[in-house]
Amino acid sequence: MEPSCGICKSGNIERVPYDNHERKLNLYVVKHHVGAWLAGAGLGTGWLKQRLLFTPSKNILHCLACGYGRYERTFEEGELECYYRRRYSLAGGLPKEAWDDFDYVVGHAKTQGQWAFVSRHLPVSGGFKMLDIGAAASRMSRLAKDHFGGRVECSVIEPGDGWLEYYRHHGIELAGRFFPSDLGGEYDYVHTSHWLEHVEHLEPVLHALRKSTAAGGLCFIEVPNCDATYFSRSFPDSPHIHFFTSASLTAAMRQHGFEAVQVTECAMVNSEYHGYRCRTALLTAEEQRTAEILEASVEQVRGGNLLRALFRAIA
Ligand SMILES: [Zn+2]
Repeated sequence: MEPSCGICKSGNIERVPYDNHERKLNLYVVKHHVGAWLAGAGLGTGWLKQRLLFTPSKNILHCLACGYGRYERTFEEGELECYYRRRYSLAGGLPKEAWDDFDYVVGHAKTQGQWAFVSRHLPVSGGFKMLDIGAAASRMSRLAKDHFGGRVECSVIEPGDGWLEYYRHHGIELAGRFFPSDLGGEYDYVHTSHWLEHVEHLEPVLHALRKSTAAGGLCFIEVPNCDATYFSRSFPDSPHIHFFTSASLTAAMRQHGFEAVQVTECAMVNSEYHGYRCRTALLTAEEQRTAEILEASVEQVRGGNLLRALFRAIA
C-alpha cells in the first residue's frame, strides 16, 4: 500500500534517506548499509541492532503537502527506551552544588526565549497547575516558581532517576516517568521542549496531551523546524522520529482539540544553521554567542531552525 501522511492524509509522499537527505555515499552510510545487510541476514547482535535504530539505510516519509515527516520504521517493545537511556544517561541529574545555581536557569538561551514567548500568556491571578514533560532540570518550573511563587504548582514527567532528589529540593512534584500515563488530573499549562519529535507514536501522545490540558489551558511545544531547506540539506536527524513544519504541527494540534495562539519560526535560518551544526567542534566563542542570542529571541525569523508554538485547549 502506498503511504499517506499521518497528519493531512495526502498521498504526495517522498522518501528521504534518514540522516542523509542529499543521498551522499560516505563511510558512515556504507557502514550502515553493511550493518543492515548483516542484520537482515540474521547475523546481527543486540549491539548492532541498537546501532541501527536510527540509520540512513531507512527513510523518512516526507509529505510534500503539509511538510510533516515520519521516520519509516517500527520499534520493538522497549527498544527506544533502552536507546534513550544509553544515549542521554538519564540517571545523571545535576551535581548537588549546582542545584541552587539560578544562573543555570536564567542563563540558558532556549529557556530565556521560551519564557519570553509564553510568560505573558500565563494566568495573571489565581493559582495554576503546570506540567513539564521530559523535564530533566525543568528550568521552566524553576522560573515559574521564581516568578509566581505559591500561585503555581509544578509537576514533571521525567524518566531519569538522577533528578528525584533535585525535584524534592525545589518543591517540584514527579507526576510520572513516561507520557502518556494516567495523571489523574488536568493542567493549566503544559510545557514540552524538544520532546515531541522523539515520541514513538504521535496520535496517542497528542490525544493524551489534550486530556491532560484543562479546557482553555495552554500547551507549549518547541521542536526543530523541518522545512524544505531542512530536507534539502543533510541535517543530522538522529534520534528524531517526527519532523514538523509550522503547518503540520498546527494541523496535528487542531485535529486533537487545540487552537493555535502563536506559532513562530525563530532563531537561525536553516540554511545558516546547517553550516553551524556541521562545524560544532570548530565554532568560535562569538559564533556560539550569536547562536544563543538568536535562540533567546522571540523575533519571528522565516525559515528559522526552531518552531516555538503555543496552543489553547478548546472546551
Ligand atoms: Zn501531510
